[in-house]
Amino acid sequence: MKYKDLKNWSKEAADWADEYYEGLSERPVRPRIAPGEILAQLGTQPPETPQDIATIFEDFKRIVPDGMTHWQHPRFFAYFPANAAPVSILAEQLASTIAAQCMLWQTSPAATEMEIRMVDWLRQALGLAPHFKGLIQDSASGATLSAVLTMRERALNWKGLEEGLTNTPPLRIYASAQNHSSVDKAVRLAGIGSNNLVKIDTDESHGLETDLLIQAIEKDLSNGLKPAGIVLCVGGTSIGAVDNVAEVIKIAKKYDIYTHIDAAWAGSAMICPEFRHLWEGVDQADSIVFNPHKWLGASFDCSIQFLADPEPQIRTMALRPDYLKTAAHSDITNFSEWSMPLGRRFRALKLWFLIRAHGLTGLREMIRNHISWAQELHDALDTLPDFEITSPLSFSLFSFQYAPQGEDANTATEALLEAVNKDGRIYLTQTTHEGKYVIRVSIGQFETRKEDVMCVPDILQEIAKGLPK
Ligand code: PLP
Repeated sequence: MKYKDLKNWSKEAADWADEYYEGLSERPVRPRIAPGEILAQLGTQPPETPQDIATIFEDFKRIVPDGMTHWQHPRFFAYFPANAAPVSILAEQLASTIAAQCMLWQTSPAATEMEIRMVDWLRQALGLAPHFKGLIQDSASGATLSAVLTMRERALNWKGLEEGLTNTPPLRIYASAQNHSSVDKAVRLAGIGSNNLVKIDTDESHGLETDLLIQAIEKDLSNGLKPAGIVLCVGGTSIGAVDNVAEVIKIAKKYDIYTHIDAAWAGSAMICPEFRHLWEGVDQADSIVFNPHKWLGASFDCSIQFLADPEPQIRTMALRPDYLKTAAHSDITNFSEWSMPLGRRFRALKLWFLIRAHGLTGLREMIRNHISWAQELHDALDTLPDFEITSPLSFSLFSFQYAPQGEDANTATEALLEAVNKDGRIYLTQTTHEGKYVIRVSIGQFETRKEDVMCVPDILQEIAKGLPK
């Protein structure tokens, strides 16, 4: 295939995309396949001779779609969404056509400058203070790892980069157990060690208990340990827990501890001013991550890390070997010096298309719809016999149990979830909350309509009726 053939094959791909999206709501959300079924359809050896693109395309249509879980399905209520607005898919097509490697300003001037502008558009959209700068990372996990490495090096006055973690008192990172596992992973990978991730208990509203945080810091100081960072949670993955940002950051400032807020999912809701009270005090944070690739509609991957002062992170991450040196220029930003990977994709383009095509008004309407439909669904399930809400609505997420009289609720809930996902009309996933096996309901797919959400109670009841007693 030559570049000039893209014209025809892109048209084929666009026609296929149209067909796929037209028929998407008829498909089961999760494929009905057994492990190994796809593998068995893929040639065991790479072809020695070129194959015809028409054959490859036909094989794609035959094998791939039926073997995928459909994240853009309007009844995808599992995990958190990974939205891909049509306009963002289009922008990704253009970005992959130019196919630039955007590591330095010099290798990608428009991508770098658009990234600077898009981060600032989103800063304004979320109502954050003007001092925040930032970058687009591949994932919240990557942003959190960058923040934890910065916590480590700041606490060591950047000696760890050369000397490693020898001859230092153990560093301590604090977070509640409601934080995503990417925090645990970052602390492990940063060499701080999971024993030094201090999990602070939460209060009755599932936010980090600030008195316990102070006690933990004081105890560590008196034992000669070194508090380095606090990771706060705004919209935890399990049940949407939210820390008291203002209070926690006040404590962090008192002890000179670096703060990072994980708002990977719920950050998108902050484009609506009425939710911003939930992270009041956010402007005092050192680092914040939120994923437009979750709820906002920028297709995966696109994670924004805002930094109150980029210098500590750049000092931690930047390396400038001779072959990457470019003409010094005070106005140049080389984003690869702000994060772990050297190579970077042109991610800003899909934000530019998305925010312009929908406007903040359009995106706010989507978020508000999701939250109000989630509330209606929560209320509807709350009135059903045998169903119990186990965590209240947080943004557009809540959890419930199926608890028919005389049955073990954990077992019944697990059986119901398995049957629901085998049925395929909707897709839900589980978590453990307060020792119970519960089902999460997360509303947020870009094309979900109210009727997609409100069919859930009927489907649950119908499937529950068919379960063996
Ligand atoms: N933080 C929260 C609250 C999440 O829910 C998730 C993923 O769902 C992550 C972090 C990790 O996100 P990513 O896949 O971008 O690394």
